[in-house]
Amino acid sequence: MYTLSKPIIGITSNTILAESTIVPGMTRVYVSADYINAVTIAGGIPFLLPPLSDLADAREQIMTIDGLILSGGLDVDPFMYGEEPLEKLGTINIFRDEYELMVIKLASELGKPILGICRGIQIINVAHGGTLYQDMSYIEGCNIKHFQNVTIRDALWHTVDIDPTSSLATIINRQNLRVNSYHHQAIKTVAPGFIATAYSKDGVIEAIEHQGDPFILGIQWHPEMLAKKRSVMLPIFEALVKKATHLKLGSK
Ligand code: MN
Repeated sequence: MYTLSKPIIGITSNTILAESTIVPGMTRVYVSADYINAVTIAGGIPFLLPPLSDLADAREQIMTIDGLILSGGLDVDPFMYGEEPLEKLGTINIFRDEYELMVIKLASELGKPILGICRGIQIINVAHGGTLYQDMSYIEGCNIKHFQNVTIRDALWHTVDIDPTSSLATIINRQNLRVNSYHHQAIKTVAPGFIATAYSKDGVIEAIEHQGDPFILGIQWHPEMLAKKRSVMLPIFEALVKKATHLKLGSK
């Protein structure tokens, strides 16, 4: 009998209304291939998670996986963290928000390791009771451009300083590094049970992590775009795969 050895890493996906003259009004579900490649290189088996509306079905999805990645995407509905929509809020997708709030809670309760990237760090923070800035122009003193305008997506952009006592510093073995940056929102208040572990030079939170179990790490930049070329980013995915492997094999 074939023995399954690699952990299954679920990746949440986007929905898009695909414009087509042949089949108009077709909704498609997708994720950037960079996430799939990063998980594969790190030794995991990527599974795409389409958003579902039924809680019991979502639970079956999450029980099937060993680790969870919340991928990038549109803005989170500010109603989810108790705010009215402000002028500079971007496009939202309430269906995806509701699904991801469900799966973050389920995965957290089931002790599954979680990695959130870009929108992922933001929705993890909201799911656990934190808040967001709807646009970074609303942050006093935020004077770095956080949406890079270079056409090469694995180009490095701004610097982040990492708390040397954090899990993130241990994982990537660095206390500062240059990252890419594709966000216009950021964390305002950090969720209870989490700590901010990385900041840009203008004081914006660039990473959070859960204190204690389970392993929950949020990253504001896009390590999946850099995992192939910049080997310093790969350990972020390897850390998730390692935790997922331990969960799968029933050891710590
Ligand atoms: Mn940034």
